[in-house]
This record gives sequence, structure tokens and C-alpha cells, in this order.
Amino acid sequence: MRAYGLLYLLIRVSDMKILLVEDEQKLAAALTKGLSLEGYTVDAIGDGKKAMTRISLHRGDYDVIILDLMLPSMDGLAICKQAREAGITTPILILTARAETDTKVELLSAGADDYLIKPFSFAELVARLQALLRRPVASLPETLKIGEIELSPGERKVVRDGKEVPLTLKEFGLLEYFMRHPNQVVNREDLLNHLWDFNYVGFSNVVDVHIKNLRRKLGGGNRGEILETVRGIGYRLAS
Ligand code: CA
Repeated sequence: MRAYGLLYLLIRVSDMKILLVEDEQKLAAALTKGLSLEGYTVDAIGDGKKAMTRISLHRGDYDVIILDLMLPSMDGLAICKQAREAGITTPILILTARAETDTKVELLSAGADDYLIKPFSFAELVARLQALLRRPVASLPETLKIGEIELSPGERKVVRDGKEVPLTLKEFGLLEYFMRHPNQVVNREDLLNHLWDFNYVGFSNVVDVHIKNLRRKLGGGNRGEILETVRGIGYRLAS
């Protein structure tokens, strides 16, 4: 029993740090308190521009960013885009009051890893965070190499033509999946099942959005498009 107790303690003080960007003071205070009780360290900021500055200057400090969409001085979508353009790959979970499909696609295109529609339960928020914080399996240290692309699962690093390509968590997961299944046609359902823990039924569009971002980041290179679209089925990475 004692060993379990110790293990529990080690997990609880695992030093996961969250940046919470939320301007509704009551909600921010409640989330900060709740997440602290869950063992996370939380920094809360209520202003968009201040949050952007913090993210730029302390990019390595946070394990995940919880980002409200409607904020004073700079909105969450703009923050997300700017962070991704600056090569910051910290997982981002967006909080949004809107529920339109267009907005979801927009959020994911902007580089968000996931989103939660307000009002949400605290348990759901914690579950989403845990999914985002799940680290790649450390027992797979080998580097995968296909053509000019090298992917190191342990370091969560992708290099193309000797240049590092900054990828978000989901983009990395997608590419790793393709590199572990070269020359196979992978359909959207496989990708959804493999990379998304939550119910995105009727929204396989999410895969296309991430594929589009991945293609853009990887660029065409000498051999043209590396991710082939197989019409009506899915995608294939040719080796
Ligand atoms: Ca707000």
C-alpha cells in the first residue's frame, strides 16, 4: 500500500505546468483552484496581448495552454495562429462559446489541438488535458526515416532536408502514424480512432484539416507532395 501511495504522490506532483488564458475572473479562479488540486501548476492571464507575450517569452515553460476564444486586446484564435507561426508547438486547448462547424475547422486550421465548448464539466476538461499531455512512448527511441523526412518519437522531433519542422501534437501523431504504415492507404476512420480519444462523429473533416497543415509544413520538396490523397478512401505516404 505504501508503494502505491508513493507512486500516487509522484504522479500528483509531476510538475505539469498550464497556462490558463481566460478573462472571466470567476471561471479563471475556479479552474485555477480545481487544476491545482489535480496537481497541476497554473499560471492564469486574463488579457490576450499579455498572454501572447508570455507564450512568446516562456515558450518552454508550459506543457499545455488553455486558451479562451473571446479575450480583451487579442482573441484566442489570433494568439493560436501567431504562436504556431512562431514555431511554438505547445499543445493548445481552446475554450469556446461558439459551436458552429465553421468555427471548429477554423480553430483546428489555426493550429489548436482540441477545443471544448462552454459550458463544460471540469471532469471533461481534465480528461482532455490528460489526452494532450500523454507523452509518446519512451520505449520507442528509434528514428523513423522515409525519403528526406526523419522523425524521432522520443524527442518529438521532425527533420526534413536537415531542417527541423515544428509540428503540433496532432500533426506529429499523424505523420508518425503514416511513417509506421508506409505505402499503405490509411483511411480517415483509422486516423480518427488512432489520434482522437473523443467523439468526433460526423466530423472526419478534422483529419483533412490537420493533413492540410501537415502538408503545408512539410512542403513539397524535390519529390513533390509526400502525402498522396487516395480519392474516396484516405491518404498514403509513399516511401
Ligand atoms: Ca472570454
